[in-house]
Amino acid sequence: MQKSQITKSEPDERGHWGRFGGRYVPEILVAPLEELTEEFTRARHDNDFWQKLNQLLRDYAGRPTPLFHARRLTAHAGGAQIYLKREDLLHTGAHKINNAMGQVLLARQMGKRRVIAETGAGQHGVATATVCALFGLRCIIYMGAEDVRRQALNVFQMRLLGAEVITVNAGTRTLKDAINEAMRDWVTNVHDTYYLLGSALGPHPYPLMVREFQSVIGREAREQMLSASGKLPRALIACVGGGSNAIGLFHPFIADEQVRLIGVEAGGRGDSLGEHAARFHTDAKSGGGRIGVLQGMMSYVLQDLNGQIATTHSISAGLDYSAIGPEHAFLHDNGRAEYIRSSDSEALEGLELCAKLEGIIPALETAHAIMPAIQIARELPRDDAIIVNLSGRGDKDVQLVADLKNR
Ligand SMILES: *Cc1c(COP(=O)(O)O)cnc(C)c1O
Repeated sequence: MQKSQITKSEPDERGHWGRFGGRYVPEILVAPLEELTEEFTRARHDNDFWQKLNQLLRDYAGRPTPLFHARRLTAHAGGAQIYLKREDLLHTGAHKINNAMGQVLLARQMGKRRVIAETGAGQHGVATATVCALFGLRCIIYMGAEDVRRQALNVFQMRLLGAEVITVNAGTRTLKDAINEAMRDWVTNVHDTYYLLGSALGPHPYPLMVREFQSVIGREAREQMLSASGKLPRALIACVGGGSNAIGLFHPFIADEQVRLIGVEAGGRGDSLGEHAARFHTDAKSGGGRIGVLQGMMSYVLQDLNGQIATTHSISAGLDYSAIGPEHAFLHDNGRAEYIRSSDSEALEGLELCAKLEGIIPALETAHAIMPAIQIARELPRDDAIIVNLSGRGDKDVQLVADLKNR
């Protein structure tokens, strides 16, 4: 691996980071993806576009988000200073709106009047329904039947915002099946429809585009850390579902090789296949993460020993997905980033600790990063600092946590 490749982490023209990424789609989607790539590339170099986006992120979504020095968590860990990047304070409660806002501006520029999206836990669906309401666009959200059942409040919220929620009964009735249905819709209605994908995955240009819209997290954090302490953090820690909040924090630090980049996957309730969503983990007896193609991209995909896509389990719907965004696969293989896993019970422990010590209830997804962060802080001297991406707030999970504790 050449050093320049590691530090830039820019895919080639067809969206490949090394062997990962690309565009593995039916013929009929090639032209619309090409059109989207052109529009995005133009916007990426257009100052007016960024000015409009940044103004909306400031006035509507609530950016910049604070970088908060978590003194009681720091004292509890007894090591490096722990800082929390407060994406949970954004409108709609998570980082998802950074990406939804960027893409809805593209949809408008392309003259599309109908926006579709997939959602798992409902956070991306709510963010998409929100920006569509803001601009008066028709909005259709695909959601697995199992997730509709688990996240009734978010479904109601999307409907209040004027979106149509379509329940998907195929497969395991979760996120993967919702993405399939959204892609099917897009194939049929591509002339007037924009597909607003919610994480740094899928066919090119989505992984690159979502990363660019989420990188505002890392750009702000870098500046805030430098002005708070005069130096860079020793480590960045973020949970990884598809990978958008993590890559958004990591990306502006990729050239700073002294900064460790640590992604936390869902360890679920066990190490064997089907019990977790840790794409970089394999189990000799049951299978695990291997390089493969899923939903338009080449990446690490959880598979059984025959190469069938595996089912996943996580306490948090947002991390419960069998593949990971291609840039993470690349950063994993070239060693620039490290990936660890944290279990359901560790996530619950992290959620409670963060609530009791800092007065902040994180989302269950986010909570996966808390206990590992404490461990990493403990191994570092007090005059160093680490940043945890607080990707979302836990209001949506309070009922689930209450039910678990009352069992
Ligand atoms: C959706 C979600 C995630 C997981 O998605 P990524 O694309 O990996 O960031 C993590 N945290 C929260 C709060 C979410 O809503």
